Amino acid sequence: MTGEQLSVARKLVPGRECGACTVCCKVLAIKAPELKKLPEVLCTHCTAGVGCAIYNARPQVCRDWHCGWRYLAFLGDEWRPDRSGILIEAATADIPQEFPRRDGLKFVLRTGALNAVLWPALQSAIASLVDDGVPVLLGIPGPHGYEGRNVFLNYAIAGAVAARNCRAIVEQLVIAVEAGVRAEHRKIDLNADD
Ligand code: SF4
Ligand code: SF4
Repeated sequence: MTGEQLSVARKLVPGRECGACTVCCKVLAIKAPELKKLPEVLCTHCTAGVGCAIYNARPQVCRDWHCGWRYLAFLGDEWRPDRSGILIEAATADIPQEFPRRDGLKFVLRTGALNAVLWPALQSAIASLVDDGVPVLLGIPGPHGYEGRNVFLNYAIAGAVAARNCRAIVEQLVIAVEAGVRAEHRKIDLNADD
């Protein structure tokens, strides 16, 4: 799996379904007029581990959105967000202006699963992306009612990736998590435009 392969997928993986995963129905903040909810609050239409009670009538925002695992064929079943604790999203925000690429990927760690950065498969995926120059961010959840923080990884771990130094990569990921947790988190206004 190369970073290039990871970043270019635009079509859903044929035959791959959400199954019992309902992670995005809890983790994401939704600001659409027809459905507003805070992050880390289960949607009122969702039964955790079962699915959406209004699936056939769900809002357009829900129809249009899929996580990275649904797009990226290289990721095995163990990457399904309810199994991995990691929600992958396309990302364009919080990439430094001077960085040559804008089409990034964000690995959102779930509340209570920040130690997912110790997972070798995640380390390997991030290293591959950074090696290929794809912008990579860690998404660190905020306290209840507050926005998460995105930590841009490329500059911090480029040296460790170039040296193929797994230990240093892990150290930098742990530092990134700590920085994201310590950072100031903005209170969410579900009615504000982003
Ligand atoms: S997080 Fe991904 S796999 Fe899970 S329910 Fe949402 S789109 Fe499906
Ligand atoms: S309406 Fe359905 S699909 Fe949309 S967030 Fe709620 S439970 Fe999930």
